[in-house]
Amino acid sequence: MMYWGLYLAPLMMLKFIQWESDREGVHIFRVNAALSTWRMQRWLHNVYLWYIARWKDWGASAGPYCITLSPTQQLTERTWLHEKSHCDDCLKYGWLMPFMYFFHSAWLWLFCKDKHSYLDNFSERKARAAAGQKVDFTKEEWPHGEDDRWAWW
Ligand SMILES: [Zn+2]
Repeated sequence: MMYWGLYLAPLMMLKFIQWESDREGVHIFRVNAALSTWRMQRWLHNVYLWYIARWKDWGASAGPYCITLSPTQQLTERTWLHEKSHCDDCLKYGWLMPFMYFFHSAWLWLFCKDKHSYLDNFSERKARAAAGQKVDFTKEEWPHGEDDRWAWW
């Protein structure tokens, strides 16, 4: 509920995201690619641009009973299975999930120099396995090179 109250509801009210469809009890939201900016305060427009910029390299994200898609991401079977696995993790671990996710990534980044903070995250490995995607990645296959193990900024 915190995820819905503090993340989805404000973004919906601001029209940064909109509800698109339902699938098996999961609400699918879509990030607005271009928001009409008339009447939008400059500071709010800057928040919107910041939010859109965060989505640059991402296709989708998941929370409890919800998936948010980037403006260009299709809800393919693979995307659905991957994100649904994250949804299930959120339901299984509840409010602990974002902390578990973040701390595992931070742990990998700080203490496991041959691991990738995103690709080797427990929830990502599980989600890729559930979607039939490649699970194991070598350093040479890391998306931003061998020296970039942190995926978020
Ligand atoms: Zn994922």
